[in-house]
Amino acid sequence: MHIFRNVSIKRKISSIILFTSAMVLSLASGAFIAHELLTFRHRMVADLITLAEIIGNNSSGGLIFDDNHVVNENIAALKAKSHIISAQIFKTDGQVFASYYNTRYVLFAKHSHIRDYYFAHQTAQEDPNQPIEDNYFFESDYVEVYKKIVYDGEVIGTALIVSDLAEFYQRLQLGIMIVISVMLVSLLLAFMLASRLQAVISDPIYRLLNTMKMVTQQKNYSIREKKISDDELGSLVDGFNGMLSQIETRDRELNQYHYHLEEKVAQRTVELAEARDQALAANKAKSIFLANMSHEIRTPMNAVLGYAQILQRDTQLTKEQRNSLQIIESSGNHLLGLINDILDISKIEAGAMELRQENFYLNELIDAIAAMFRVRCEQKHLEWRVSGNLEDKTLVYADQGKLRQILINLLGNAVKFTEKGEVSLRVTRQSDDYEMYRIDVIDTGQGIPKADQKNIFEPFQQEKAGFDKGGTGLGLAITKRQVELMGGRLLVESERGQGSCFSVVLHLEMGTGEVVYHAERSQVSRLAEGNHVHVLVVDDVKENRDILSQMLGDIGAETREAVNGQDCLDKILEQRPDIVFMDIRMPVMDGMAAIRHIRQDQVFAEQKIPCVAISASTLRHQMRPVLDAGFDDFISKPFRFEAVYECLAKYLDVKFEYLAPEQQEQETEAEAAKEIDLSQVKLPKVLYDRLLESAELSDLTEIENCLSELNQGDAGQQALSTALKESLASYNMDDILETVQKVQYE
Ligand code: ADP
Repeated sequence: MHIFRNVSIKRKISSIILFTSAMVLSLASGAFIAHELLTFRHRMVADLITLAEIIGNNSSGGLIFDDNHVVNENIAALKAKSHIISAQIFKTDGQVFASYYNTRYVLFAKHSHIRDYYFAHQTAQEDPNQPIEDNYFFESDYVEVYKKIVYDGEVIGTALIVSDLAEFYQRLQLGIMIVISVMLVSLLLAFMLASRLQAVISDPIYRLLNTMKMVTQQKNYSIREKKISDDELGSLVDGFNGMLSQIETRDRELNQYHYHLEEKVAQRTVELAEARDQALAANKAKSIFLANMSHEIRTPMNAVLGYAQILQRDTQLTKEQRNSLQIIESSGNHLLGLINDILDISKIEAGAMELRQENFYLNELIDAIAAMFRVRCEQKHLEWRVSGNLEDKTLVYADQGKLRQILINLLGNAVKFTEKGEVSLRVTRQSDDYEMYRIDVIDTGQGIPKADQKNIFEPFQQEKAGFDKGGTGLGLAITKRQVELMGGRLLVESERGQGSCFSVVLHLEMGTGEVVYHAERSQVSRLAEGNHVHVLVVDDVKENRDILSQMLGDIGAETREAVNGQDCLDKILEQRPDIVFMDIRMPVMDGMAAIRHIRQDQVFAEQKIPCVAISASTLRHQMRPVLDAGFDDFISKPFRFEAVYECLAKYLDVKFEYLAPEQQEQETEAEAAKEIDLSQVKLPKVLYDRLLESAELSDLTEIENCLSELNQGDAGQQALSTALKESLASYNMDDILETVQKVQYE
């Protein structure tokens, strides 16, 4: 059956028909042959019995008269029947009375088994004198027939005839041949019929199969199979067509869905793109807003701080006027600091914060910071300790300003959040890597709960304690980002009530070359003898021109002004200045266009004038194109005196005269005198405590209340009030604390 499994359905049907036909034919033929042979055998036995009867009857006379001669002649007539092998007449006692042997069967005649049979037979009989009964026996190639001879009702002997089976076998052969021929012809017919008939079943199946193939290959589900019969195959075709139409419907729906989906995706993409554009636009708007805010606030601050600085140089001022100017300047600086903080964090978030690398001595920076915090710790009655393994003259190349800001921020927090105990600064240079440093700021203050430790580096995140103490919550966020910008890591270890340790781990490149010390404003008094400078100030805003002109005029420089780029070009040709300070944004011709002319036009070629750009932007990378266009340097608004003076020193190699040391000392003495006066002041304890507490908490309103109360008091208290007002105006809480702690209370 296995071999059938993989043959075609056509073959299967043909084979089944042929096999069935062959089976039926074989059975039928077998039955027919068997019937034929049985009938033939029967007839043959009957014929032989008749013949035996005849020769028996003919021999009865001879038997009675015991004349075997006549009997022998009589049975010799059997010669005419060629299939008779032999014939015998037995007497009742079993003796052979007469016999005939066909000479054709000489060998057979000698066969003795007939008599053997006879004797065996006789022996089996109870009475040996009983005559042999009528009987016949078939052997493979002959048959024996026994017939009793009866005369007058009495058995007088037995006739035996032995005949060969040649005719029987001939018949058998013929029968088989007929059957085989009939079977062959029938099978041939059956095959021919099967070939035709199987198509009735296989053809629709093949057609169905082809259709299926077509559907699969072409993916065309609209094809249908034609139904030609109403039988099971017809149902199969119906089922197939039904299935196809379902697939077709699904396919159509799927396509529609797909199409809609694409439409939807496209629609969503457009929406997303719009949202993205909006977000980008919003972000851009934010950047522009920040840049503008920076510009817009810095420009007027330039005027405020510039004039404050200029006016302070006037020696005719009264003490009050000088104080007021200082207040204007320090308030302005405070405001500028806040703006810078917010700009800093925005800049860092926008990835626009840059490093300003320079050579400096790390130990000197640490010393300066240590000096600053020694005082602060004293004021709060905290122990102050500096330790580490830093050597003198540890020259590094890094962003000094940022490192200073980082340390001031961390130490500021340490002092702010520690009420008693110690604040310490430990700077260690790693022994295995000489460029790796670890700076620890350790305090014994309130500590930071573990849960809050990850938040404190996020902008505007303050713990309740931090909130109560004031501040913007930006300090650590800026600090961490600055440390990371410098390639380092800021770590914190702290436990509530156990104090905190903030560690800065960073790589500081070893410095090579000269250390640049920044000129300090208060020290420069004027240009040194024999130094002359002719400056051209270019700005479209009159106030800005005036400030810079005055700043420069104050130290003895000669200044001229131009109101835009074109004007600047004309003035350069006319006046040949030594250096140009020029704003970038101007009408008619801006600073960029002007510098290109100065650097490229032949008329300016003979004298290479140093040009310094002035910009309200603080972003170094934004100044890149400015420098590329040909400016030598840039200073940002509001400009600090020292930045302007540094440019003169750098590009014109001028020397300055500095304020005489006595002048600085005098100021310190004046301050000391003021302090001695204060030590005589007495305050009621309640007011004293309120003042200290409100200063600790930066509670400005409460401080103001205290001050107005003081104003009502005696001369000493009024003097204290005036002194504190100055500190309050510059938001200098530390100063207030320091001053208050120096007076007495009762
Ligand atoms: P601000 O000091 O302006 O509140 P910071 O970013 O500097 O903001 O600090 C965030 C918060 O982290 C503070 O409000 C305070 O709760 C906590 N913090 C910072 N430094 C310390 C410290 N040394 N000890 C305890 N808490 C600290």
